[in-house]
Amino acid sequence: MRSLALVVALSAGLLVPVHATAAPAGTSPSGRPETVRVTGQPTSPLLPPAVARDLHPGEAPDSTIHTAAVTDYPAELRALVRVLDNYTPSDDATVHAGMLLLYYGHSYPEFVTAVRADPEILRALWRFVVRHQDLFGTDRQYQVQNATRELGRFLQYNDLALHARPLLADMASRADVVGRLAPMWVGVAEMVDWYDKANCRRYGTCDFRAQIDRRVLTVRHTCSASVKVRAQQLTQAQLRQTCTSLANQDAAFHRVVRDPGPVAGDNNTSLEVVVFNTSNDYRTYAGVLFDISTNNGGMYLEGDPALNQARFIAHEADWLPTFAIWNLNHEYTHYLDGRFDLHGDFESNMTTPTVWWIEGFAEYLSYSYRGEVYADALAEAKKKTYALSTLFDTTYDHDSTRVYNWGYLAVRYLVEKHPQDVAAVLADYRVGDWAGARDHLGRVIGSRYDSDWYGWLGTLS
Ligand SMILES: [Zn+2]
Repeated sequence: MRSLALVVALSAGLLVPVHATAAPAGTSPSGRPETVRVTGQPTSPLLPPAVARDLHPGEAPDSTIHTAAVTDYPAELRALVRVLDNYTPSDDATVHAGMLLLYYGHSYPEFVTAVRADPEILRALWRFVVRHQDLFGTDRQYQVQNATRELGRFLQYNDLALHARPLLADMASRADVVGRLAPMWVGVAEMVDWYDKANCRRYGTCDFRAQIDRRVLTVRHTCSASVKVRAQQLTQAQLRQTCTSLANQDAAFHRVVRDPGPVAGDNNTSLEVVVFNTSNDYRTYAGVLFDISTNNGGMYLEGDPALNQARFIAHEADWLPTFAIWNLNHEYTHYLDGRFDLHGDFESNMTTPTVWWIEGFAEYLSYSYRGEVYADALAEAKKKTYALSTLFDTTYDHDSTRVYNWGYLAVRYLVEKHPQDVAAVLADYRVGDWAGARDHLGRVIGSRYDSDWYGWLGTLS
């Protein structure tokens, strides 16, 4: 995943995180995409603040609940209070629908009028979270996390804030920046930061970003002059293993792309690798600390390559029996690719469709370097879904199977069978001649290899 993909994805639909436990269980590492984009069905957990900030009512995705015209807000709110007060796990879908009702309600004056006339919903949200604190740290955490945020959203109105403030301050006082209830504390802190910053002392959250940095990311380690690690919980042995894995990848990278050195203007000489302990910690802390979407398996932020600190944010694959940082070698490929193959920043890289290369090559190098079999991609190959010429048009709007599995197949085919074409396209990418590369892919290659490609797909096993 790279940063602008979020913007691209946001314009296409609502981003919601995957369940903490849903994706990893029974899924091979290769089967878990970095980004999962779904529309807001009731099983999807949380409206992350990054989305809440960026989404405008006009961009609301097609979904039954929140686009349905709600004509009787007072009745809907009374019903929601009853559900929250009598909640059992069989009400999960209803509660989630209620959270969407609240989230989208703020765009409608009738909704705010109804809450002002009867603000009991605020106390009901507080009662719900406090009574069901046991849900934090479970796969139904999203319910109490959403309720915390939806209560916080009422801080935007001076009159309703008088009701919401003491309730949220009480919630913050029950939790801390670390521990099982951290998602509640961070949720309050973030909404306060967004809507009630002037009163942050009331909640004890004024320096919450510094607190996360100081008390959560406690491990600092220097791998080399170019790679530093900030982590939540890595042992010396795990740090050594991580540093070695990255250091040895450099040679594997340069062997494939045969670059002449960094692209002009790239001063991203060093990389910071941030590693959270679990996918749940990643979702709790990374969004607010780095202003990223966290409904994915990691994120590389190139920043401005002329003056920036490149960084990728990842987490341990806590669902695997042995230690691994999820997508470590994939994200590191993005760093190397941005420095040695792709001119300019990520926005400039997106001038033409380059996703087949960016994500396909990150997958290709990650799997080939580790000597891992990419079982999902090999299974897709048998289906012969896409012509090679079609894959050159892949964007982040396409599904993750096309972006990652088929990107991998396209890159592997060209690297193995037509390295001279890879060299020609990369020569253009390196100088920012996006149109030149596009011309090579679309006209010089065109559909010339398609029949050979289909034959090659049939040989993979
Ligand atoms: Zn990626």
